[in-house]
Amino acid sequence: MLYKRNRSGLPQMRQLILSGVPVNGKIFFAAMCSVLAALFFWGARVQAAYRVQPVDETLVVVIDPGHGGENEGTAEGRLTLEDAALEKEMTLVTAKAMYDELCLYDNVEVYLTRTEDVDLSLKERAEFAASVGADFLFSIHYNASPSHDLFGSEVWISAETPFNAYGYQFGCIQLDTMHSMGLFLRGVKTRVNDSGKDYYGIIREASALNIPAVIIEHCHVDEERDIPFCSTSKSWADLGRADALSVAKYFGLSSSALGVDYSGFSETLPEVKEHARVQQTLKDETPPDVCSVEFLDADYQTGELSVTVTAADYDSPLLYYDYSIDGGETYSVLYPWPGSNALEGTYTDTFALSLTIPSGVMPSVVVRAYNLFDVPAKSNCLMSLQEFWYGEEAEEQGAESFAEPEKEQTDSPGTKTFLPASADALEQESPQSFLSFLMLCLLFVVLLFAMILTCQAVSLSLRRRKRGRQRRKEEGDSRNHRK
Ligand SMILES: [Zn+2]
Repeated sequence: MLYKRNRSGLPQMRQLILSGVPVNGKIFFAAMCSVLAALFFWGARVQAAYRVQPVDETLVVVIDPGHGGENEGTAEGRLTLEDAALEKEMTLVTAKAMYDELCLYDNVEVYLTRTEDVDLSLKERAEFAASVGADFLFSIHYNASPSHDLFGSEVWISAETPFNAYGYQFGCIQLDTMHSMGLFLRGVKTRVNDSGKDYYGIIREASALNIPAVIIEHCHVDEERDIPFCSTSKSWADLGRADALSVAKYFGLSSSALGVDYSGFSETLPEVKEHARVQQTLKDETPPDVCSVEFLDADYQTGELSVTVTAADYDSPLLYYDYSIDGGETYSVLYPWPGSNALEGTYTDTFALSLTIPSGVMPSVVVRAYNLFDVPAKSNCLMSLQEFWYGEEAEEQGAESFAEPEKEQTDSPGTKTFLPASADALEQESPQSFLSFLMLCLLFVVLLFAMILTCQAVSLSLRRRKRGRQRRKEEGDSRNHRK
């Protein structure tokens, strides 16, 4: 599997997932962690189950276009999107398309909390849903992150039972739909405030009125990998129709107008317990458990440096990584973690990362791994002991720059170094250090044996001497006696 991405102003990067990586402790530990995490998620995903939410024959769905009026939502899309759109405008287009599509299904009543550019409080939206007897409230949103680096689709659900289970079953279908459109997945998650209640007001207000609610954050309007999914009013409507499809599948709806029947679909949902919270939707407070970077290869003629990245998280899958070549002072944009699937809880635990180091740079590589809740773990710092010189700059500098440096650097904790000339030797660094460790152990055992043998020999000779003295004494005594 080859993965390639080139962002302006950053070194070109190429990575390929390795099938045969050296088995050392860290990798083994990472593999175990990811197996545990995968099993943990798999447990919930693998078993197909019925929708746990009971509903009457006629379904009532309320769609809430997020924001409105003076509450504009994110304005980050103004830089790039059609009509310099605000979030409140995008959500209205999406919600209306979702409404139109859902109205085509049989036995369903659909309502919108707003059809105009008006501001409603979250409480008013929830109260409206209650007033029409809503079975479910879907709040429609678009995302933006403070550092404009996150991308992908996510669903926020209630932490309260049984809405947590309902939200999780719906959220999985919704993310499946988003994934099939090509969006990166950020998971089905909960967020609670200091008093343990749902953090997001619309979910909290709806739960208080006994209505399950979710927030659909379709994608990020401020990240270039998500922009193609939300750049035009057509794409906002497409996402609305996709949302309607998820709702139809979740409730097992059928439509004679559309000629579709999803009545069996809600029997294939992930297994959940109605009155227990789904563990993987709860916030993972800890960073990934393992994150390390090791030297793999360096080509000083082209500036290509390859490193092996290994990471794992016990509690949630890994979503992104970024890297630094200046020891952690500045970082690249975020990249999707290879094999990341927030829905299945799976990811690749080890992969090779190839970086193009600009000429004249002595790189110190640091990689950060981010989990489902965007909590990062930082790797060790992998330092080069020589600058990369190539191309025109290398010719200007002359051959002396290529002189080998003395390999006498003492590694500080969390820092590893590598040298160009002995790259092959250093690639074997781990087995070699393991061998040294074994030799040391052997030496210790030999010394211990030698000590034991010496002690025994000394004590034996002492005992012999003592017995000799005793014998001589006894002989002397008997002689004196005979006299
Ligand atoms: Zn919003």
